[in-house]
Amino acid sequence: MFSQFALHERLLKAVAELNFVEPTPVQVAAIPPALEGRDLRVTAQTGSGKTAAFVLPLLNRLIGPARPRVDIRAIILLPTRELAQQTLKEVERFSRYTFIKAGLITGGEDFKVQAAMLRKVPDILIGTPGRLLEHLNAGNLDLAQVEVIVLDEADRMLDMGFAEDVSRLCDLCPPQRQTLLFSATTGGAGLRDMIAKVLKEPQHLMVNNVSDLSEATRQQIVTADHNAHKEAIVQWLLANETYRKAIVFTNTRSMADRIYGHLVAKDFKVFVLHGEKDQKDRKLAIERLKQGAAKILVATDVAARGLDVDGLDLVINFDLPRSGDEYVHRVGRTGRAGGEGLAISLICHGDWNLMSSIERYLKQSFERRVIKEVKGSYTGPKKLKASGKAAGTKKKKTDKDKKTTAKPAAKRKPNARKPEGAGLASQDGLAPLKKRKVE
Ligand code: AMP
Repeated sequence: MFSQFALHERLLKAVAELNFVEPTPVQVAAIPPALEGRDLRVTAQTGSGKTAAFVLPLLNRLIGPARPRVDIRAIILLPTRELAQQTLKEVERFSRYTFIKAGLITGGEDFKVQAAMLRKVPDILIGTPGRLLEHLNAGNLDLAQVEVIVLDEADRMLDMGFAEDVSRLCDLCPPQRQTLLFSATTGGAGLRDMIAKVLKEPQHLMVNNVSDLSEATRQQIVTADHNAHKEAIVQWLLANETYRKAIVFTNTRSMADRIYGHLVAKDFKVFVLHGEKDQKDRKLAIERLKQGAAKILVATDVAARGLDVDGLDLVINFDLPRSGDEYVHRVGRTGRAGGEGLAISLICHGDWNLMSSIERYLKQSFERRVIKEVKGSYTGPKKLKASGKAAGTKKKKTDKDKKTTAKPAAKRKPNARKPEGAGLASQDGLAPLKKRKVE
């Protein structure tokens, strides 16, 4: 029961209206110490209810009678626009019976309109670090009275090259503020550095281990001969699986566009989302998916980051993610808040060892599934090492694979197969995404 927390009755009323009955484990663990004003470092995965775990104590701190707005009192930093937009919605839902106002500042939106919004001084500012810094540099932003900083998906912000921007923004806030840092993984040296820099004697709450993917999500692999075969499997799955909404992940924009085109040609109601799409298209795709006008989204990791779409219960990894963390992020969006989910990864010869590394990272074994209607000839390595990797084989491509994916180097378009994360530089003017290894 949410009434177990010392939350203002106006917040409890909003919570009750949202039909949140039982707090999730991260809410149980984080809300009380956050209400006491402590700094927190919380390791909790996407879908665990972590947004409410920081939004409710934050609102509780700011709640009060109506008064002229003169200072920004809290900032919430997130890695992507979509996540920032979702967080704003969550803040608005919980603050509807209060006088607290929140504003959103992300890249890809009109700078002048944002500057005008900042002149009205929201109590809570939600945004991505790069654009916030631009406003700071333009003299539009004063953080001298900030009481609370939230760094959400901090590990991801570091991966995306935001470390310096985040530190700078934190340095501009008063040292006595409260800082709440959330990350999906325990992170590496970069996260440790940031924690040492921005948190004061934090309490560390490990609510979900990264390998605790929602138990309601089944994880399967289906072997495939080459990319064209993978496409046939995707089409079969989308036509025959029972699902409410599905997302197909690719590692590159060009592959996302290609699959999208083929699905449209087969009359699937589908949207595509990647970093090259402009903000309007991205918003439209997400809205259509949320409203149910389209059931299927083809997306790259960057574009789909932090998406919280109700009823998303089928994730297909057309391309395997490049790391175990990335796998968790993709698959973590099914089986959210109690729903059931199914994650299917399509595995060609060249994907096997990465897949087996991900299994070891997650300490789980994926269910091997054979679909007789679209069965190919590749069924996995003939011999396996104890680690689960292929024994005595070198990565090689089948003829068909070469035909569908590899072009001669000289003819290849410069960005055609660039991983989506690398496009961040052009998207947000940021350093390229750093890759994390599985092991
Ligand atoms: P998050 O991890 O914050 O992205 O939350 C995932 C989803 O769970 C969101 O749609 C929330 O609205 C929902 N949610 C969060 N907490 C609860 C709760 N205690 N009961 C029901 N749904 C929740």
